[in-house]
Amino acid sequence: MAKQRVKQKVKEQVKELGKKRVRIVGAGLAGLTLGRTLLQRGVPAVLYDRRPEARRHGYAVTLHEPAYRPLLDLLGLDLETFRHRVAVDARHGHRGTGRIDPALLVRRAPGVDYATSFRANRHNLVKLLAEDLDIRHGDEVESVSPGTAPGLVALHMEGAAAPNLVGLNSYYKMMRIPYQVPPPFSLQTDCLVGADGALSAVRRALAPDTPVGILPYVVYSGWRRLTQKQFNDHCAPAMQGSTVIETRTGGGEAGGAVLSVTVNDAHTGALDVGWAYSRPVRGGAADPLHMPNREVDEAKHVPKALYEELGALGELEQPFRYMLDPELTKVDGHALHWLMRTALVDSEDLYALAGTGAFLVGDAAHAQPILGGEGALSAITDAVGLGNCIADHGPSGIPAWYDTRYDEWEAGVRNSVKAIREIHGGR
Ligand SMILES: Cc1cc2nc3c(=O)[nH]c(=O)nc-3n(C[C@H](O)[C@H](O)[C@H](O)COP(=O)(O)OP(=O)(O)OC[C@H]3O[C@@H](n4cnc5c(N)ncnc54)[C@H](O)[C@@H]3O)c2cc1C
Repeated sequence: MAKQRVKQKVKEQVKELGKKRVRIVGAGLAGLTLGRTLLQRGVPAVLYDRRPEARRHGYAVTLHEPAYRPLLDLLGLDLETFRHRVAVDARHGHRGTGRIDPALLVRRAPGVDYATSFRANRHNLVKLLAEDLDIRHGDEVESVSPGTAPGLVALHMEGAAAPNLVGLNSYYKMMRIPYQVPPPFSLQTDCLVGADGALSAVRRALAPDTPVGILPYVVYSGWRRLTQKQFNDHCAPAMQGSTVIETRTGGGEAGGAVLSVTVNDAHTGALDVGWAYSRPVRGGAADPLHMPNREVDEAKHVPKALYEELGALGELEQPFRYMLDPELTKVDGHALHWLMRTALVDSEDLYALAGTGAFLVGDAAHAQPILGGEGALSAITDAVGLGNCIADHGPSGIPAWYDTRYDEWEAGVRNSVKAIREIHGGR
């Protein structure tokens, strides 16, 4: 009987709490920027992310000025401090710049002043944005469904970490459930924002008919930790202080292969240096390196054919020769297969979902491919606009905000498809 009462109390608390706060699924660039915008505007929000903690990401994103400018205001930092903290080459006692030399890129994005752009380490950026936010790491949203009343949506969490509610801890104690493996739970809210990225569980649950495209490109990436000496010997002379260098091999109507080497992270006496190899698909489904239907967790299954293909590239210039050496990448690399996904939720679906208290933002609403895309810019711009909209008008103002953004989302997806083609020299 006592157990029942505690259970009931917890249920009511969760429900009540759910009505008052904005619930954000995903603590990536969109979710965190939204969280910070709401924090600045005094609107309570809680974020859920399936990752157990702010895990170190070995990769980097290019930030152009329009993407990072709003973050300076949200973080209360000047550009120099921000850049020095998040740049890929920032480390203890060493200020980073993340410099990009546009002469070393195979394609320059139109209208961009690269003197003000830089490469940010994603982990450093996420860590900075996450400061002061209420984030429940390890909370994976399993599904989303209509709530028990109009305008409410229910969020179902898988293996969720315990929210800090009176009574819940004693419930766990009484039930003898270890804190590390708490049971799944559900809650309801009138403002759920799906910011859970290109493979969004929120989108899959609420707008399941959204077409997800896989562009016809073979893309593999990896990274190795180099000593400062290895970097100086093999990479620095060609990179000339830039944190990225690219080259293209082959060409023609179909487009050539593109190789890139990037500084992704810096440590005392060592650097994490990434490589990427991409090319258009050859021969459609017969291409052994194109696996459009692979499962998400199969990204680490890299076919032997990749190393054979890298070996057949012939004598490359440095740093490509060293970083894409098939033997070295195979032995001590961390290679991954990347799929170039696109998605755009239909505007009618967005309006329909808005009536139930569910909203989508960032890659969850409109995914652009990793290569050629400007997903970071879109995610940050969306999040600042959405946060201010919620603060000014509440969730009921969001459909009008969608109207101001949708054309840009469509254009963003369209332009990213064009950009990845241009990167590979195709027309
Ligand atoms: C390797 C790489 C390099 C990139 N480089 C660039 C670049 O140079 N320039 C650029 O503009 N863009 C780049 N992008 C794309 C850019 O990072 C994304 O467009 C941007 O991060 C989108 O932000 P988002 O918040 O919508 O999604 P994300 O940043 O992907 O965040 C989604 C979050 O949701 C969480 N999540 C997912 N599913 C669940 C669930 N079921 N429950 C709870 N949480 C969940 C994830 O853990 C993640 O933290 C790159 C992407 C990658 C992967």
